[in-house]
Parts: sequence; structure tokens; C-alpha cells
Amino acid sequence: MAGTLPNFIGGRWETPAAETAEVHDPATQALLARVPLCGPAEVDAAVRAAASAFGDWRRTPATERVQFLFRLKVLLEAHRDDIARTITRECGKTLAESHGELQRAIENVEVACGIPTLMQGRNLEDIARGIDEHLIRQPLGVVGIIAPFNFPAMIPFWFLPYAIATGNSVVVKPSERVPATMQKLMALVQETGLPDGVVNLVNGGAAAVDALLDHPDVRAVSFVGSTPVARHVYSRGTAAGKRVQAQGGAKNPVVIMPDADPELTTAIVADSAFGCAGQRCLAASLLITVGSARERFLDALGEAAATRRVGYGLEDDTQMGPVITPASRVRIEGHIERAVASGARVLVDGRGQRLADYPHGNFIGPTLLDGVRPDDPLVGTEVFGPVLGLLHADSLETAIGLVNRGAYGNMACLFTESGAAARRFRHEVEAGNVGINIGVAAPMAFFPFSGWKESFFGDLHAQGSHALEFYTQTKVVVERWPREWSRTF
Ligand code: NAD
Repeated sequence: MAGTLPNFIGGRWETPAAETAEVHDPATQALLARVPLCGPAEVDAAVRAAASAFGDWRRTPATERVQFLFRLKVLLEAHRDDIARTITRECGKTLAESHGELQRAIENVEVACGIPTLMQGRNLEDIARGIDEHLIRQPLGVVGIIAPFNFPAMIPFWFLPYAIATGNSVVVKPSERVPATMQKLMALVQETGLPDGVVNLVNGGAAAVDALLDHPDVRAVSFVGSTPVARHVYSRGTAAGKRVQAQGGAKNPVVIMPDADPELTTAIVADSAFGCAGQRCLAASLLITVGSARERFLDALGEAAATRRVGYGLEDDTQMGPVITPASRVRIEGHIERAVASGARVLVDGRGQRLADYPHGNFIGPTLLDGVRPDDPLVGTEVFGPVLGLLHADSLETAIGLVNRGAYGNMACLFTESGAAARRFRHEVEAGNVGINIGVAAPMAFFPFSGWKESFFGDLHAQGSHALEFYTQTKVVVERWPREWSRTF
């Protein structure tokens, strides 16, 4: 029988007496584990453990702190297969996709290993005669990290390596829908020999999140999830005086110009829309064809959608796994039905997918909806499934107008051979991550993962230099040594 997953608090694995929820394999519905739905008591224990570890940890030299991250990188690489299989089992994505996300997690560890250089301040000697001024960066204290279901390894690692490298201590709350991956990652964190309490894990859902937001000893919160929850986290956390970065949902448009390379574009757009079963915050979900692009791409895209092999992520030939829960499948099919009722035409229909070998899986096939009107609710709604809505524009200018009408601003992409069109798009488009002939414009770990409008609440984003700034506070020291000064000069 599947057991209850423990928390990891103060260097000890503890199974709390909290109510539990079941975690199922989305392809088979097999019961994988029970996840405790912790509340204020467990969060308080974790925050206290983190707070008591903070003093020694912040005094540990940065050069020593990063040694644990070097060890973690080696351990993550050694356990790649096991972690990737765990991601696929609980999250549904293909094994190749799980390996891809784990690689992104490792890259963030690599960048955070550079903290002794990245965290340096600056100074100016003699801002006035005999007076020097220094800017130094110091850690904040206890930091909360709250993750969504769709990247159980990568997203916590947009934050965790930077937070601890800069000298903070951490409480991580993974998604209650995919909690097993973090168990594996935490066991490796423990194996590095990191001092007890520097990193803690509390399982749970909304109650654990609210307890972190309300806890007076939590100084900052990093959140990724849907827009309504991101807004809630940002307002409740900042009202309590915390520093908060909250990344939200998305509706990502892709514009294809008539001169775009047909084969490359089709393959890239199909992968963006249907990869990870459309459950990526950078999934293309609206396709805007400009001019004759519509005729050139429609059949090829239809073919790419219709031939994508849907199946169990652990099997070699699977190109697309299931969506996360039965409720997600019903919700996504509902969005398709409503779009059809308001006039969209289904070119490729993924509804009602039943696989003979996995009759209970949450499968839904790639879906292409043509003739979506700009004012259709689908255009402004995050479906978070393998559904691509097609719109048409007579010019690049009209297409950019359609992109910028959207409430979200996570990503926008353009496919073209024209440098001038690309430059205009890059300049005018209202999105934090922009792809030019790229379908999933995910910034590397050494760049911030941007996001605008309803896709982000806060100032500093995840990863890279933004993470460094988010997890540190600056102190400016103005310094004079009068007697020394007069003796020497
Ligand atoms: P979600 O908002 O349901 O959950 C995210 C986290 O918030 C989880 O840890 C969950 O336990 C917690 N939570 C859920 N409801 C809550 C509530 N009412 N109060 C407090 N906490 C609550 O998101 P999800 O379904 O797990 O993930 C998918 C969403 O995440 C999509 O909208 C996707 O676009 C978004 N996402 C965004 C990015 C980005 O970088 N912008 C990246 C990945 C995913």
C-alpha cells in the first residue's frame, strides 16, 4: 500500500499526523502515494528550523556554501534516471521531457555555484577626502518556495540554489499533486551534508501556502502557479511585509509570417503547443497566421497534430503523455466544446482519447481549432492542455495588436526570415519572454525567466541575476578612519 510521504524538517524526515490526499499516476490511475496536507503547525516547525539554521549558515563563507551545490550537481547527475522516472510517473510527461526539465534544474545549480563572484558588492574609495563607501549584499533570512505541478524538479530549482548560495535558509512547499519528485531531490540535498535546517520540506496545499504567507519569520516568498493564486500570494505576502515574486499563468501567442521556413516552423510550433501535453507555462496556445501563411501551414500543422503519438510517458515511442488529473481532462474538453459552440471549427479533435493499454488515463489528443474569433473567451483563457486556437491577421501590425490585447504576457513568438519583422516584433510585443524562430522561449539559468502583465506579480523574476537580487538585501557602508588618515598622510 502506498505510504504517506514525510516532511523534511531540521534534517529529520517526519510523517505528520495531517489529513492526506492521494497521488495518482495520471496514465494509469495507480495510487503512488499519500501526501499530507499540512497546515500552520508543520509550517511553523519548518520555519523555526530554518530560522535557527540561518545564523550559522549566513556566516559560512560563500565559497564554502557553494561546495554543497557542487556536490548536489554531481548527485543530481548520478540520479538522473531515477528522478526523471519519478517525474514522469507522477506528472505524466514523457521521459525525454522529464530529463529535459531535470537538466534545467541542474543548470540553475551550476549558475548558483558562481555566487562568490555574483554576490560581490561594489565600492568607491574617497567619495570625500578620507571617506570610502561600500555596497554589500546580505541574505534575507527564511525564504518560502511554492511550486506548481507541471515542473516538479525544475521550478523549485529556479529558486532553491540561489536562495541557499546567498546564505538564506529555505522552506519548500511542492505541489501536492506531484510531491514524490521533491522527496528524491531532498534526499540528495541531505546527502550533500548541508547543515540541518538550511533546507526544509513541508507538504501540503493552500493551507500550507497561507501559513507561509502569514508566518512572521518568513522574509520572502517565491511562487509559481496559476494567475489567481499568484495574485493572492502576492497581495497577502506583501501585505504581511514580505518580499514576494509570483509568476502566474499564460496564454502564449505564436505569429507565423508567410516567409517562415515551413518544415522547421511546423515542427517547432507543434512541439510548443503539444509538448508536455500543453501543460507548460510557455506552451503556444494561440497561432496567428499572417497573410498567405495560413494556406502554407494549415495542412502541415494538422498533420503534425494528428500524428503525434499519445501514450504512457515511460514508453519509448510516446510523444505526448496524459494531463495531470481527470478533472483537468474534463475542464480542457469543456473549453473545446465552448469554443466550438461559439463558432470555432475543429480541425483535429483530441477529445475522447481512450488508449487500449491505459483505459483509465487522463489522455486528450492534440487539438486544432480554426476560425477562433479575437473576442472568443478561448483567446483570453489559459486552457493548459494540448489545444491550439488558430486566428488570422492581414499584417504583422494586426498580429502584434492581437498579441498585445491579451491580458497575459508570459511569452510571444514570431516565425519569419525577415530581420526587420523580427526586430519590430521584439520591440513592440508585450511579453516577458520572446522567441524568434523559437517555440518555447525559456531563458537559460543565467538569464531571468521574465513574464509581464497578468503572468507576473513583483519586480524581480526567477533565475540568474534577478534571483541573486531577490534573495539579498543591500547595505551601504560609509566609512571614515580619522586618526589613521591623519597619521598616514
Ligand atoms: P496552482 O495555482 O493551482 O498551484 C500552485 C501552488 O499554489 C501549489 O503549490 C498549490 O498547492 C498552491 N495553491 C493552489 N491553490 C491555492 C490557494 N487557493 N491558495 C494558496 N495556495 C494555493 O497551479 P498549478 O495548477 O499547480 O500549475 C499550473 C499553473 O502554473 C498554470 O497556470 C501555469 O501557467 C502556471 N505556471 C507558470 C509558470 C511561469 O513561469 N509563469 C511556470 C509554470 C507554471
